[in-house]
Amino acid sequence: MGNDGGSIPDRRDLVKSKPKAEALDKANQTRARWGFCALSKRRLQEPVVSCALGKLYNKDAIIEFLLDRDAYGDGENICGHVRSLKDVKTLSLTANQAPVPAGKEPLEHPQFVCPLTLKEMNGATPFVYLRPCGCVLSLAGLNAMRSTPPDGDGQTEKDTCPQCAAKYSHGTDCIPLNPGADEEERLRAALSAQRLLEPVKKSKKRKAAADAAAAEPPAKKAATATIATASNSLRSTLAMEEAKRKAGMSDAVKALYSGKDTGRKETFMTMGTFTRVSRLHEKYCCVLTRRLCSTHSHPVALYVA
Ligand SMILES: [Zn+2]
Repeated sequence: MGNDGGSIPDRRDLVKSKPKAEALDKANQTRARWGFCALSKRRLQEPVVSCALGKLYNKDAIIEFLLDRDAYGDGENICGHVRSLKDVKTLSLTANQAPVPAGKEPLEHPQFVCPLTLKEMNGATPFVYLRPCGCVLSLAGLNAMRSTPPDGDGQTEKDTCPQCAAKYSHGTDCIPLNPGADEEERLRAALSAQRLLEPVKKSKKRKAAADAAAAEPPAKKAATATIATASNSLRSTLAMEEAKRKAGMSDAVKALYSGKDTGRKETFMTMGTFTRVSRLHEKYCCVLTRRLCSTHSHPVALYVA
């Protein structure tokens, strides 16, 4: 290190400006992350929203981005995972009522605090937001107020939000704000896993049809079903009777009925009397089978006058 007689100190050992500048830069970055919109870089202004990765945005900037994904040059890198307003949660923040200390810029003064501990949201202490209600709390304050112990299984038991009493699951609904790199990676993996589980979107037409079916009153549905069943059973009864009748007919009689496949060409005048009468009768006979029912074995309701 020098000054021990063994080596000559150079400028790097004596000038301490570089680490100082780095520390200043880090402080600026922290202030930017906690006080400014991650997308527009403007000062956070309510309504403030956060995504599944815990970044803070002004809602108007996100809307601008969703309307035109090129509105901000690096928008896709910052919030490319936000597909619609459903992917962000409007936060319920607590304003910092403390006066700006003398000699401090108002811009440097943290705007929000934890409603439980009144700790300032400045990046010094971890903060979280709860996915169901959007309340923003310091992690320490939230843990102190939890109804289930912090080391309990947060996946199964539901906790209650200390601010608005909404139910949340500590394991999945507690999103850290501006997380560290490791934590962000974990959130990103959880988001990808969740997206894989999402159902494939139905087309608008099919969705409308499904909605219409769901909106149909159950009584109407039941009536439709009954009619369909009745007509199905009637059709099968008729088919069975037709088969029975055909089985009992001689070949000659069958030939009379199957006008098409005999190959004989005949007009209305040249056809046999029986056939002519049959055709005439057919017009007024069974509506469903379009056949002459010489035995008149079908229910009366099936004939037209
Ligand atoms: Zn809440």
